Amino acid sequence: MGTRDYFQSISYAANTILEGMAVTFSHLFRGPITIQYPDRMDRPITETLPARYRGFLEVQMDICTGCRRCQRVCPIDCIVVELEKNLETKKKEMSRFDIDIGKCMFCGLCVEACKVESTGAIRHTTNFEGTTEDFGTLTFRFIPEGTTQPLYRAPKDKSEIPLGTYGPLAREARERALRDNPALFKMQRVVWEEEEERKRKAAAEAAEAAAKEAEAAQAAAAAEAAAKEAAAAVGDGAAEQAPDSGKSGKDA
Ligand code: SF4
Ligand code: SF4
Repeated sequence: MGTRDYFQSISYAANTILEGMAVTFSHLFRGPITIQYPDRMDRPITETLPARYRGFLEVQMDICTGCRRCQRVCPIDCIVVELEKNLETKKKEMSRFDIDIGKCMFCGLCVEACKVESTGAIRHTTNFEGTTEDFGTLTFRFIPEGTTQPLYRAPKDKSEIPLGTYGPLAREARERALRDNPALFKMQRVVWEEEEERKRKAAAEAAEAAAKEAEAAQAAAAAEAAAKEAAAAVGDGAAEQAPDSGKSGKDA
């Protein structure tokens, strides 16, 4: 490196440091730009997000055909759709449409499958705030407990499907989940615990019966071995006496 390059490098380094310091100092005289979320927003954060944002899923039940494409395509089994026959109308209806949002990875596969092959009933919304201490409140039940939902018959022309507004259904499902799920899951937990207790008792009884059976088999085997041993001892005694009696015969 020549002398000229050497001094040029020093000058470049000094300029760079001064530029950096100028940017830093300029911030000393500006107000803070941090937004205090969520209490000082001039409008809800969900309204500031792009329309294609992948937030909570929602299902517009009145245009859901119950085809279960969304359930089949979900790689981690977040969606559960159940159908049952209405005994009065003799038609199938949906009795359950649950999405476990706590497990969902927001991949959008279910949305894509429904949009392309069905009616577009399931979709992402811009809602995302789901902080909770109870995972149960993150299972969104789009069919309230004890009710059923008739299946939608999709028209051939997709433009005739009455798509509703995005967003409120997810909010409603979230509110329902917060309100109803803890009690519901508590009830289910009691049933589950009773079932587990029954299984534990049955397993313990089966193990006890098997142990008794093994013990009896062991005792039978020991008795059989003892009997064989006794029979062998009797046989040996008879064999010992037989040569003596032959000898005494000859002597006579
Ligand atoms: S219509 Fe869409 S949301 Fe309904 S079951 Fe089929 S794929 Fe799922
Ligand atoms: S977004 Fe992905 S993970 Fe979530 S329910 Fe749909 S398919 Fe499953």
